[in-house]
Amino acid sequence: MKILFAAAEAYPLAKVGGLGDVAGSLPKALKALGHDVRIALPRYGMIREWAEDLGSFSVRIGGGEEEARLRTSSIDGVPVYLVEKPELFDRPKVYEYEDDGRRFGFFSKSLLDLLPRADFWPDVIHCNDWHSALAPALLRTLYAGDERYRPIHTVLTIHNLQHQGLFGRDLADWAGLPPETWTPEGVEFYGQLNCMKAGIVHADLVNTVSPTYAQEIQTEEFGCRLDGLLRSRSSKLSGILNGIDYDVWNPAKDALLAQTYTKSTIEKKAKDKAALRKEVGLPSDANAPLLGMVSRITEQKGLDLVVAALPDVLKLGAQVVVLGTGEKKYEDRLAAFATGTPGFAAFLKYDEALAHRIYAGSDFFLMPSKFEPCGLGQIISLRYGTVPIVRATGGLADTVADVDRDPKKGNGFVFSEYTPEAFLDATQRGVAFFRKKRGWKALQRRAMSANLSWKASAKQYVRWYERALAS
Ligand code: ADP
Repeated sequence: MKILFAAAEAYPLAKVGGLGDVAGSLPKALKALGHDVRIALPRYGMIREWAEDLGSFSVRIGGGEEEARLRTSSIDGVPVYLVEKPELFDRPKVYEYEDDGRRFGFFSKSLLDLLPRADFWPDVIHCNDWHSALAPALLRTLYAGDERYRPIHTVLTIHNLQHQGLFGRDLADWAGLPPETWTPEGVEFYGQLNCMKAGIVHADLVNTVSPTYAQEIQTEEFGCRLDGLLRSRSSKLSGILNGIDYDVWNPAKDALLAQTYTKSTIEKKAKDKAALRKEVGLPSDANAPLLGMVSRITEQKGLDLVVAALPDVLKLGAQVVVLGTGEKKYEDRLAAFATGTPGFAAFLKYDEALAHRIYAGSDFFLMPSKFEPCGLGQIISLRYGTVPIVRATGGLADTVADVDRDPKKGNGFVFSEYTPEAFLDATQRGVAFFRKKRGWKALQRRAMSANLSWKASAKQYVRWYERALAS
């Protein structure tokens, strides 16, 4: 099968969060299953190297023709098409520009217009989140009369429903969406263009990144005002759990660690803990469990709970290290708290290498998310034998089981209510388990035994593509 995998991020070329991990690793797993998969990505400012220049191509947009360039790169043997349009993409960051609508509207449109230049006609275009979600809508309308495009099917994966890409009608017109799509059944959403909705309405199939989140987004609480639409499409909606790249995240071979280890040499992990403490400036204390967090610092990730419970967590005799960037109000609280609190360290930056060392050197990993489509942090921490403390929502509920509730299969500590007290209670249970010592190593090994590589999920995606082709 020929698949064009379109995303706004793909590790290691460009990564902001989990979407980057997925786009950098799922295509590789699909390739291993024998498929011809190619990634499409904007050529951002941080991407300064490429293999080939395939020349310019025109993008029919804004009522005229705009020139763009197509370059190629690769990620672990998977070909990457880089869409080059310097005035839109040659900037230091991936997102958070005023003209993101135009940037990703252009990207979505270019996914279709680059095909003749690439001479690649995919069976499936796999779109990811709102940044590429206009492509299915354009394919089914503007390109409906073009025979070359008619055999192409589309799948849209929702990685986070909170970000839908809402813009004025002018963007819909500029992108070339025909006026008849401007209805509540089409791309219009309370007077605005909703890119995610456009994708949900027009893609052959839609999925999200965990079975539980696929259910949750059909409810008012998690549906971000699209729950009605998603309920009406429930027969073409599924949840496929994300995996992680076992080559990138591998404690046995991770060159960024002070000490590598495996399930059978788990005691060596203590060296990573000691090295991490040194690196982040936490005092050594044989009795203190080390709690790590690597996360966007946002409401979604449970920062209200973290900030409120932190003093009590430290009173348990635990140490905490946080790595992340995000909303200023939380960053300020964390920074203020870190000053003069010996058991707490905060690094408000993006740092891939430190992230690896936190996953390896911590005893526990904190992920008290308010909602969580899949979550990769807890999956990575399991791989490193670092016991996750999570809230039972979305993919966290699908990957972590509570030890106290299920002593044989449990691989972490889980709480349900979104309150600082419930979070503290789960942390307290975790710390008590750690201190008891009996069963701790077995728990770490059980965490490491979870098989959350892409193998199984990539096969599910292939079945999903096959269903799209048959639709
Ligand atoms: P998100 O909702 O942000 O996509 P996920 O848990 O799915 O959350 O994925 C987050 C990914 O980004 C993980 O690989 C995590 O290690 C990484 N990450 C998040 N913040 C940072 C940071 N400040 N530095 C390094 N890596 C980070």
